[in-house]
Amino acid sequence: MRDILEKAIETHSLNKTEIIGLLNSRTDAGDLFAAADLVRRKFVGADVHLRGLIEFSNICKNNCLYCGLRRDNKALERYRIDKNTILALAKHAKSMGLKTVVLQSGEDVYFDIPKMTEIIAGIKSFGLALTLSTGEKSFREYEAYRKAGADRFLIRIETTDKKLYEENDPGMSWERRVQCMRDLKKLGYELGSGCLVGLPGQTTESLADDILFFKDMSCDMIGIGPFIPHPQTPLKNAAAGSLETALKVMAITRLLLPDINIPATTAMETLAPDGQIRALQAGANVIMPNITLTQFRQYYQLYPGKTTTGYTPDQSLQKVRDKIASIGRTIGQDAGQSKKWLKEHNNQ
Ligand code: SAH
Ligand code: SF4
Repeated sequence: MRDILEKAIETHSLNKTEIIGLLNSRTDAGDLFAAADLVRRKFVGADVHLRGLIEFSNICKNNCLYCGLRRDNKALERYRIDKNTILALAKHAKSMGLKTVVLQSGEDVYFDIPKMTEIIAGIKSFGLALTLSTGEKSFREYEAYRKAGADRFLIRIETTDKKLYEENDPGMSWERRVQCMRDLKKLGYELGSGCLVGLPGQTTESLADDILFFKDMSCDMIGIGPFIPHPQTPLKNAAAGSLETALKVMAITRLLLPDINIPATTAMETLAPDGQIRALQAGANVIMPNITLTQFRQYYQLYPGKTTTGYTPDQSLQKVRDKIASIGRTIGQDAGQSKKWLKEHNNQ
Protein backbone atom coordinates (compact mmCIF):
# COMPACT_ATOMS: atom_id res chain seq x y z
CA MET A 1 0.00 0.00 0.00
CA ARG A 2 2.73 2.51 0.99
CA ASP A 3 4.77 1.57 -2.09
CA ILE A 4 1.83 2.20 -4.37
CA LEU A 5 1.16 5.56 -2.74
CA GLU A 6 4.80 6.60 -3.01
CA LYS A 7 4.81 5.65 -6.67
CA ALA A 8 1.62 7.66 -7.22
CA ILE A 9 2.99 10.74 -5.44
CA GLU A 10 6.13 10.64 -7.58
CA THR A 11 4.88 9.55 -10.98
CA HIS A 12 1.13 10.28 -11.00
CA SER A 13 0.67 7.03 -12.77
CA LEU A 14 -0.79 3.74 -11.55
CA ASN A 15 -1.98 0.64 -13.36
CA LYS A 16 -5.38 -0.91 -12.95
CA THR A 17 -4.20 -3.58 -10.50
CA GLU A 18 -2.63 -0.95 -8.26
CA ILE A 19 -5.78 1.18 -8.31
CA ILE A 20 -7.92 -1.84 -7.44
CA GLY A 21 -5.47 -2.59 -4.61
CA LEU A 22 -6.02 0.91 -3.16
CA LEU A 23 -9.79 0.71 -3.55
CA ASN A 24 -10.01 -2.73 -1.97
CA SER A 25 -7.57 -2.11 0.86
CA ARG A 26 -9.29 -2.86 4.15
CA THR A 27 -6.89 -0.79 6.20
CA ASP A 28 -7.77 2.77 7.08
CA ALA A 29 -7.79 4.97 3.99
CA GLY A 30 -6.07 7.76 5.98
CA ASP A 31 -2.77 7.28 4.15
CA LEU A 32 -4.46 7.50 0.76
CA PHE A 33 -6.31 10.66 1.78
CA ALA A 34 -3.12 12.21 3.19
CA ALA A 35 -1.27 11.45 -0.05
CA ALA A 36 -4.03 13.08 -2.12
CA ASP A 37 -4.03 16.07 0.25
CA LEU A 38 -0.28 16.45 -0.20
CA VAL A 39 -0.52 16.33 -3.99
CA ARG A 40 -3.44 18.79 -3.93
CA ARG A 41 -1.43 21.25 -1.81
CA LYS A 42 1.65 20.94 -4.03
CA PHE A 43 -0.13 21.35 -7.38
CA VAL A 44 -3.16 23.56 -6.74
CA GLY A 45 -2.42 25.10 -3.34
CA ALA A 46 -4.62 26.04 -0.38
CA ASP A 47 -7.29 27.89 -2.36
CA VAL A 48 -10.80 26.50 -2.63
CA HIS A 49 -12.56 27.85 -5.72
CA LEU A 50 -16.26 28.61 -5.45
CA ARG A 51 -18.75 28.14 -8.28
CA GLY A 52 -22.26 29.50 -7.88
CA LEU A 53 -24.66 26.80 -9.05
CA ILE A 54 -27.91 27.84 -10.75
CA GLU A 55 -30.31 24.94 -11.36
CA PHE A 56 -32.30 26.70 -14.08
CA SER A 57 -34.63 23.93 -15.33
CA ASN A 58 -35.68 20.54 -13.97
CA ILE A 59 -37.29 19.47 -17.24
CA CYS A 60 -35.55 16.49 -18.81
CA LYS A 61 -36.21 14.38 -21.89
CA ASN A 62 -34.06 11.54 -20.55
CA ASN A 63 -35.01 8.77 -18.21
CA CYS A 64 -31.87 7.85 -16.25
CA LEU A 65 -32.90 5.20 -13.75
CA TYR A 66 -31.11 6.83 -10.82
CA CYS A 67 -32.26 10.42 -11.25
CA GLY A 68 -35.27 12.17 -9.71
CA LEU A 69 -35.58 14.48 -12.74
CA ARG A 70 -36.16 11.55 -15.13
CA ARG A 71 -39.06 12.14 -17.50
CA ASP A 72 -41.19 9.33 -16.04
CA ASN A 73 -41.23 10.95 -12.62
CA LYS A 74 -44.71 12.36 -13.08
CA ALA A 75 -44.99 13.35 -9.41
CA LEU A 76 -42.42 16.10 -9.85
CA GLU A 77 -43.55 19.67 -10.41
CA ARG A 78 -41.47 21.03 -13.28
CA TYR A 79 -40.05 24.55 -13.65
CA ARG A 80 -37.91 26.68 -15.90
CA ILE A 81 -36.26 29.87 -14.72
CA ASP A 82 -36.56 32.64 -17.33
CA LYS A 83 -33.62 34.46 -18.86
CA ASN A 84 -33.99 37.67 -16.87
CA THR A 85 -34.17 35.80 -13.56
CA ILE A 86 -31.10 33.73 -14.49
CA LEU A 87 -29.20 36.91 -15.34
CA ALA A 88 -30.32 38.58 -12.10
CA LEU A 89 -29.04 35.56 -10.14
CA ALA A 90 -25.72 35.68 -11.97
CA LYS A 91 -25.40 39.39 -11.24
CA HIS A 92 -26.11 38.69 -7.60
CA ALA A 93 -23.41 35.98 -7.69
CA LYS A 94 -20.97 38.59 -8.93
CA SER A 95 -21.97 41.01 -6.18
CA MET A 96 -21.39 38.28 -3.58
CA GLY A 97 -17.81 37.94 -4.85
CA LEU A 98 -18.20 34.74 -6.86
CA LYS A 99 -16.03 34.44 -9.96
CA THR A 100 -17.77 31.54 -11.72
CA VAL A 101 -21.36 30.48 -12.21
CA VAL A 102 -22.51 27.04 -13.28
CA LEU A 103 -25.76 26.70 -15.21
CA GLN A 104 -27.16 23.22 -14.71
CA SER A 105 -30.42 21.65 -15.92
CA GLY A 106 -32.10 18.53 -17.14
CA GLU A 107 -31.88 17.99 -20.89
CA ASP A 108 -34.46 20.64 -21.70
CA VAL A 109 -34.83 21.26 -25.45
CA TYR A 110 -36.69 24.53 -24.81
CA PHE A 111 -33.29 26.16 -24.27
CA ASP A 112 -32.19 26.15 -27.91
CA ILE A 113 -29.14 27.86 -29.43
CA PRO A 114 -30.65 31.39 -29.65
CA LYS A 115 -31.95 31.25 -26.08
CA MET A 116 -28.77 29.78 -24.61
CA THR A 117 -26.40 32.09 -26.45
CA GLU A 118 -28.31 35.14 -25.17
CA ILE A 119 -28.07 33.88 -21.60
CA ILE A 120 -24.37 33.02 -22.03
CA ALA A 121 -23.54 36.44 -23.49
CA GLY A 122 -25.48 38.12 -20.68
CA ILE A 123 -23.57 36.26 -17.98
CA LYS A 124 -20.24 36.87 -19.68
CA SER A 125 -21.01 40.62 -19.77
CA PHE A 126 -20.77 40.59 -15.96
CA GLY A 127 -17.15 39.41 -16.16
CA LEU A 128 -17.89 35.95 -14.74
CA ALA A 129 -16.43 32.63 -15.84
CA LEU A 130 -19.21 30.33 -17.03
CA THR A 131 -19.67 26.59 -16.79
CA LEU A 132 -22.55 24.78 -18.48
CA SER A 133 -23.97 21.43 -17.42
CA THR A 134 -26.94 20.85 -19.66
CA GLY A 135 -26.24 17.41 -21.10
CA GLU A 136 -25.66 15.99 -24.56
CA LYS A 137 -25.77 18.45 -27.48
CA SER A 138 -24.59 18.49 -31.08
CA PHE A 139 -21.12 19.76 -32.01
CA ARG A 140 -22.81 22.78 -33.59
CA GLU A 141 -24.60 23.59 -30.35
CA TYR A 142 -21.49 23.25 -28.19
CA GLU A 143 -19.65 25.39 -30.73
CA ALA A 144 -22.29 28.12 -30.58
CA TYR A 145 -22.13 28.19 -26.77
CA ARG A 146 -18.36 28.38 -26.85
CA LYS A 147 -18.41 31.26 -29.36
CA ALA A 148 -20.92 33.04 -27.12
CA GLY A 149 -18.37 32.80 -24.30
CA ALA A 150 -18.94 29.59 -22.30
CA ASP A 151 -15.66 28.53 -20.70
CA ARG A 152 -16.31 25.10 -19.21
CA PHE A 153 -18.68 22.17 -19.53
CA LEU A 154 -19.55 19.43 -17.06
CA ILE A 155 -20.74 16.12 -18.43
CA ARG A 156 -20.16 13.08 -16.28
CA ILE A 157 -19.53 9.77 -17.97
CA GLU A 158 -21.41 8.33 -14.94
CA THR A 159 -19.70 4.95 -15.44
CA THR A 160 -17.23 3.61 -18.00
CA ASP A 161 -18.97 0.22 -17.88
CA LYS A 162 -20.84 0.53 -21.19
CA LYS A 163 -23.37 -2.16 -20.30
CA LEU A 164 -24.12 -0.66 -16.90
CA TYR A 165 -24.37 2.81 -18.47
CA GLU A 166 -26.85 1.73 -21.10
CA GLU A 167 -28.96 -0.17 -18.55
CA ASN A 168 -29.13 2.88 -16.31
CA ASP A 169 -29.56 5.46 -19.07
CA PRO A 170 -32.19 3.90 -21.33
CA GLY A 171 -32.17 5.20 -24.90
CA MET A 172 -28.75 6.79 -24.44
CA SER A 173 -25.49 5.60 -25.93
CA TRP A 174 -22.21 5.41 -24.06
CA GLU A 175 -20.23 6.14 -27.26
CA ARG A 176 -22.31 9.25 -27.86
CA ARG A 177 -21.50 10.48 -24.34
CA VAL A 178 -17.78 10.00 -25.01
CA GLN A 179 -18.15 11.78 -28.36
CA CYS A 180 -19.67 14.77 -26.53
CA MET A 181 -16.62 14.88 -24.29
CA ARG A 182 -14.29 14.75 -27.30
CA ASP A 183 -16.23 17.55 -29.03
CA LEU A 184 -16.03 19.75 -25.95
CA LYS A 185 -12.30 19.17 -25.63
CA LYS A 186 -11.80 19.97 -29.32
CA LEU A 187 -13.71 23.23 -28.92
CA GLY A 188 -11.31 24.31 -26.18
CA TYR A 189 -13.64 24.02 -23.21
CA GLU A 190 -12.29 23.12 -19.82
CA LEU A 191 -13.78 19.66 -19.71
CA GLY A 192 -15.42 18.42 -16.54
CA SER A 193 -16.57 14.85 -16.11
CA GLY A 194 -16.91 12.33 -13.35
CA CYS A 195 -18.83 9.30 -12.19
CA LEU A 196 -21.36 7.93 -9.80
CA VAL A 197 -20.07 5.60 -7.12
CA GLY A 198 -22.24 2.75 -5.89
CA LEU A 199 -24.63 2.18 -8.79
CA PRO A 200 -26.22 -1.25 -8.34
CA GLY A 201 -24.04 -3.76 -10.20
CA GLN A 202 -20.97 -1.49 -10.37
CA THR A 203 -17.67 -3.25 -9.59
CA THR A 204 -14.37 -2.08 -8.14
CA GLU A 205 -12.75 -2.97 -11.47
CA SER A 206 -15.08 -0.61 -13.22
CA LEU A 207 -14.33 2.21 -10.75
CA ALA A 208 -10.63 1.69 -11.52
CA ASP A 209 -11.49 1.95 -15.23
CA ASP A 210 -13.34 5.20 -14.52
CA ILE A 211 -10.24 6.76 -12.97
CA LEU A 212 -8.03 5.61 -15.87
CA PHE A 213 -10.63 6.96 -18.31
CA PHE A 214 -10.49 10.43 -16.69
CA LYS A 215 -6.74 10.46 -17.31
CA ASP A 216 -7.08 9.09 -20.81
CA MET A 217 -9.62 11.75 -21.76
CA SER A 218 -7.41 14.44 -20.24
CA CYS A 219 -10.23 15.89 -18.15
CA ASP A 220 -9.71 19.28 -16.50
CA MET A 221 -12.22 18.74 -13.73
CA ILE A 222 -13.66 15.61 -12.13
CA GLY A 223 -16.68 15.42 -9.86
CA ILE A 224 -17.33 12.17 -8.02
CA GLY A 225 -20.68 11.57 -6.38
CA PRO A 226 -21.97 8.67 -4.33
CA PHE A 227 -25.21 7.32 -5.79
CA ILE A 228 -28.18 8.19 -3.55
CA PRO A 229 -31.49 6.37 -4.22
CA HIS A 230 -34.47 8.58 -5.04
CA PRO A 231 -37.91 7.36 -3.90
CA GLN A 232 -39.61 8.19 -7.23
CA THR A 233 -37.21 6.22 -9.41
CA PRO A 234 -36.83 2.52 -10.32
CA LEU A 235 -33.73 2.40 -8.08
CA LYS A 236 -35.65 3.51 -4.99
CA ASN A 237 -34.89 0.31 -3.08
CA ALA A 238 -31.21 0.12 -4.00
CA ALA A 239 -28.53 0.75 -1.39
CA ALA A 240 -26.77 4.13 -1.44
CA GLY A 241 -23.15 4.32 -2.52
CA SER A 242 -20.51 4.54 0.20
CA LEU A 243 -19.02 7.93 1.05
CA GLU A 244 -15.73 6.25 1.92
CA THR A 245 -15.48 4.61 -1.52
CA ALA A 246 -16.41 7.86 -3.26
CA LEU A 247 -13.68 9.67 -1.31
CA LYS A 248 -11.20 6.96 -2.27
CA VAL A 249 -12.07 7.24 -5.98
CA MET A 250 -11.68 11.01 -5.65
CA ALA A 251 -8.35 10.78 -3.81
CA ILE A 252 -6.87 8.41 -6.44
CA THR A 253 -8.10 10.74 -9.17
CA ARG A 254 -6.15 13.58 -7.49
CA LEU A 255 -3.02 11.41 -7.37
CA LEU A 256 -3.23 10.63 -11.10
CA LEU A 257 -4.41 14.05 -12.29
CA PRO A 258 -2.57 16.35 -9.87
CA ASP A 259 -3.35 19.74 -11.42
CA ILE A 260 -7.06 19.45 -12.23
CA ASN A 261 -10.02 20.89 -10.31
CA ILE A 262 -11.92 18.49 -8.06
CA PRO A 263 -15.10 19.51 -6.25
CA ALA A 264 -16.19 18.36 -2.84
CA THR A 265 -19.61 17.36 -4.10
CA THR A 266 -23.05 18.05 -2.65
CA ALA A 267 -23.86 14.32 -2.79
CA MET A 268 -20.91 13.68 -0.43
CA GLU A 269 -22.31 16.26 1.99
CA THR A 270 -25.75 14.63 1.75
CA LEU A 271 -24.39 11.33 3.09
CA ALA A 272 -22.53 12.91 6.04
CA PRO A 273 -22.55 16.39 7.58
CA ASP A 274 -18.76 16.57 7.25
CA GLY A 275 -18.67 14.99 3.77
CA GLN A 276 -17.36 18.09 2.01
CA ILE A 277 -14.78 18.86 4.68
CA ARG A 278 -13.47 15.32 4.43
CA ALA A 279 -13.34 15.70 0.65
CA LEU A 280 -11.41 18.99 0.90
CA GLN A 281 -8.87 17.12 3.03
CA ALA A 282 -8.62 14.20 0.60
CA GLY A 283 -7.86 15.96 -2.70
CA ALA A 284 -10.74 18.35 -3.44
CA ASN A 285 -10.20 22.08 -4.17
CA VAL A 286 -13.62 23.30 -5.38
CA ILE A 287 -17.09 23.77 -3.87
CA MET A 288 -20.22 24.67 -5.80
CA PRO A 289 -22.54 26.56 -3.44
CA ASN A 290 -26.12 26.46 -4.62
CA ILE A 291 -27.38 29.95 -5.53
CA THR A 292 -30.72 28.86 -7.02
CA LEU A 293 -33.69 30.78 -5.59
CA THR A 294 -35.11 28.98 -2.53
CA GLN A 295 -38.54 28.56 -4.15
CA PHE A 296 -37.16 26.25 -6.88
CA ARG A 297 -34.71 24.17 -4.86
CA GLN A 298 -37.17 21.58 -3.61
CA TYR A 299 -37.98 20.64 -7.21
CA TYR A 300 -34.38 20.10 -8.34
CA GLN A 301 -34.07 16.75 -6.63
CA LEU A 302 -31.60 14.63 -8.53
CA TYR A 303 -31.53 12.69 -5.26
CA PRO A 304 -33.21 13.32 -1.88
CA GLY A 305 -31.78 14.90 1.23
CA LYS A 306 -29.78 17.80 -0.24
CA THR A 307 -28.82 19.76 2.84
CA THR A 308 -29.23 23.21 1.27
CA THR A 309 -32.83 22.84 0.10
CA GLY A 310 -34.37 25.51 2.39
CA TYR A 311 -31.53 28.03 2.14
CA THR A 312 -31.25 31.32 0.26
CA PRO A 313 -28.27 31.91 -2.07
CA ASP A 314 -26.56 34.09 0.55
CA GLN A 315 -27.02 31.47 3.29
CA SER A 316 -25.64 28.70 1.08
CA LEU A 317 -22.58 30.75 0.28
CA GLN A 318 -22.00 31.70 3.92
CA LYS A 319 -22.18 28.05 5.02
CA VAL A 320 -19.55 27.14 2.46
CA ARG A 321 -17.30 30.05 3.44
CA ASP A 322 -17.52 29.02 7.10
CA LYS A 323 -16.67 25.43 6.24
CA ILE A 324 -13.57 26.47 4.31
CA ALA A 325 -12.41 28.82 7.07
CA SER A 326 -12.93 26.11 9.71
CA ILE A 327 -10.15 24.00 8.19
CA GLY A 328 -7.78 26.89 7.56
CA ARG A 329 -8.13 26.95 3.79
CA THR A 330 -8.46 30.10 1.68
CA ILE A 331 -11.02 31.09 -0.94
CA GLY A 332 -9.69 31.51 -4.48
CA GLN A 333 -9.79 35.13 -5.63
CA ASP A 334 -9.41 34.47 -9.35
CA ALA A 335 -11.53 32.51 -11.83
CA GLY A 336 -9.91 29.28 -10.63
CA GLN A 337 -9.30 27.85 -14.08
CA SER A 338 -7.91 24.35 -14.23
CA LYS A 339 -4.12 24.61 -13.91
CA LYS A 340 -3.85 21.72 -16.31
CA TRP A 341 -5.93 23.53 -18.93
CA LEU A 342 -3.86 26.71 -18.47
CA LYS A 343 -0.62 24.80 -19.02
CA GLU A 344 -1.98 23.11 -22.13
CA HIS A 345 -3.14 26.45 -23.51
CA ASN A 346 0.16 28.15 -22.69
CA ASN A 347 -1.47 30.77 -20.55
CA GLN A 348 0.86 30.36 -17.66
N1 SAH B 1 -28.77 16.60 -17.10
C1 SAH B 1 -27.37 16.85 -17.03
C2 SAH B 1 -26.95 17.62 -15.79
C3 SAH B 1 -27.78 17.42 -14.56
S1 SAH B 1 -27.63 15.88 -13.76
C4 SAH B 1 -26.60 15.55 -17.13
O1 SAH B 1 -27.18 14.51 -16.85
O2 SAH B 1 -25.45 15.61 -17.50
C5 SAH B 1 -26.10 16.08 -12.91
C6 SAH B 1 -25.53 14.84 -12.28
O3 SAH B 1 -26.35 14.43 -11.21
C7 SAH B 1 -25.49 13.61 -13.16
O4 SAH B 1 -24.37 13.64 -13.99
C8 SAH B 1 -25.45 12.48 -12.13
O5 SAH B 1 -24.13 12.00 -11.95
C9 SAH B 1 -25.93 13.14 -10.84
N2 SAH B 1 -27.05 12.38 -10.26
C10 SAH B 1 -28.24 12.13 -10.82
N3 SAH B 1 -28.99 11.31 -10.02
C11 SAH B 1 -28.22 11.03 -8.92
C12 SAH B 1 -28.43 10.24 -7.74
N4 SAH B 1 -29.55 9.55 -7.54
N5 SAH B 1 -27.44 10.19 -6.83
C13 SAH B 1 -26.29 10.91 -7.01
N6 SAH B 1 -26.06 11.66 -8.10
C14 SAH B 1 -27.01 11.73 -9.06
FE1 SF4 C 1 -31.86 14.06 -17.03
FE2 SF4 C 1 -29.33 14.44 -16.21
FE3 SF4 C 1 -31.18 13.35 -14.57
FE4 SF4 C 1 -30.32 11.92 -16.65
S1 SF4 C 1 -29.05 12.64 -14.89
S2 SF4 C 1 -32.46 12.18 -16.04
S3 SF4 C 1 -30.00 13.52 -18.19
S4 SF4 C 1 -31.16 15.42 -15.38
